[in-house]
Amino acid sequence: MMQGNDSRRYVVIGGGLAGLASAVWLAEAGKQVTLLERRARLGGRTQAMRVGEVDDLADNGQHVVASGYSNLFRYLKSVGTDHYLHYPHCGTLRWPGGRAVIMHTKGLRALPTLMGAHPDASPGERLRAARATMRLGWQALFQPADLADLSTDQWLRRVGMPAKAREALWDWLALGIAAEPVERGSAKVFADVMATGLRGGMKKRRGSTIGYPTVDLDTLYITGAQRVFEERGVDVRHRAVARRILLEDGRVKGVLLADGSEIAADAVVCAVPNSSVRGLLDDLPEHAEIYAAADKLGHTPIVSTNLYLDRPLSTKAAMEAIIGGRGVIDEVFDRQRMHLRPPNGTWLYCLTTSGAYEQIHRSNDEIIAEQMDLIRRYYPEAVEAKLVHAHVVKMPRATFSQVVGTAGLRPEQRTSVPGLVLAGDWTRTDWSATMESAAQSAAKAVDLLLELPPKY
Ligand SMILES: Cc1cc2nc3c(=O)[nH]c(=O)nc-3n(C[C@H](O)[C@H](O)[C@H](O)COP(=O)(O)OP(=O)(O)OC[C@H]3O[C@@H](n4cnc5c(N)ncnc54)[C@H](O)[C@@H]3O)c2cc1C
Repeated sequence: MMQGNDSRRYVVIGGGLAGLASAVWLAEAGKQVTLLERRARLGGRTQAMRVGEVDDLADNGQHVVASGYSNLFRYLKSVGTDHYLHYPHCGTLRWPGGRAVIMHTKGLRALPTLMGAHPDASPGERLRAARATMRLGWQALFQPADLADLSTDQWLRRVGMPAKAREALWDWLALGIAAEPVERGSAKVFADVMATGLRGGMKKRRGSTIGYPTVDLDTLYITGAQRVFEERGVDVRHRAVARRILLEDGRVKGVLLADGSEIAADAVVCAVPNSSVRGLLDDLPEHAEIYAAADKLGHTPIVSTNLYLDRPLSTKAAMEAIIGGRGVIDEVFDRQRMHLRPPNGTWLYCLTTSGAYEQIHRSNDEIIAEQMDLIRRYYPEAVEAKLVHAHVVKMPRATFSQVVGTAGLRPEQRTSVPGLVLAGDWTRTDWSATMESAAQSAAKAVDLLLELPPKY
């Protein structure tokens, strides 16, 4: 399967999306690849989890996709699972007491949604929201110099976004994008993602929309990759913890593992998260700078709760945004609608709380009680519903943090050593901490390695 006479040994460190995509694309290019993953399984932060008590397969957290995720789609095409994504026509905004309003997410009917059309907004408020949205879009494309110093909240105030439009759209969208409450989230991070979406939309003459997988995350991301690895002879090593990338005379020599063994390598993709990079790059001249950035980027928590109920809730769409929950905005995902999951006596609802700084410190029982209380306030049927089982996934390091002051910290994939490249959602891309960022970083990293001169 080797391309031309390239006898180089390529090692990818990290079996999350960035590492999987790097290994798949290098293998597609006919390279000899070894993939090192420190855990017993692949997938990193995107993985399915068996819930034995109800014989079900849940995810570590609901993952949604934007229509502009072009590198992620390329990965899914490579592993043969791109048909598992679905883009619905609408989502729901839901208020306490069960009031629910459909918001369209596709086509011309998405325009009022984009303009932050709150159901109770007066014509004057709608006009102000439309004007503020135009200003927001313009400033995302032509950014004011001080945007990096502003929180998203400050930016939304500056463009004059009315409170109702913020409640109906902008606050929860910004929270979803930066995984940080708007008071902490960086306006520049939000603006950059908006600009990427706007440019992509203009290029394709199509608006951006949000979709979701119709299968569990293992089926979506891992099963197909494993097939590619088998077909292309990729050597996948589980429980292989990389300690240090060994360099000599400005070239990659190998990877030192935690068990003391060494793997010979001519090129390495380092695709670990910012929280795991320290030590690996010690031989790289600029390592101190990269470690400092990795530390400053820090992390932000997400808590996911899978609630198995004895009856269905009256959801109107697969994705429902819960408005005015506890100051943070939560989302309820109806797995019956998303996966056409047959209930088998239990109905599964996944609740995701981004920027879960308080929740992360609570016990599972406290979180379950709190989430049950939340859905009882929003869904009338939940008042009588019995909880059959609950499954809490706490991810204290769900993503790197995108608070004010973090824009510009993310390192490039290119390093001063041509055979050593970085990948991972936290490296520099035009997306925030997302699966697309992981896939885009892999595309950039692999391109750099494929450009290496034959004699390198
Ligand atoms: C609950 C939750 C919900 C999310 N929701 C969304 C969403 O809706 N949409 C979206 O786009 N994104 C979402 N994200 C973000 C997305 O999951 C991540 O951005 C993406 O999966 C990161 O991929 P990665 O490959 O960069 O990192 P990871 O998935 O973290 O992969 C890194 C891998 O490296 C391995 N590793 C680390 N150190 C070593 C070592 N020394 N040696 C060997 N292996 C090592 C790790 O074990 C891991 O498998 C969500 C994340 C979470 C946690």
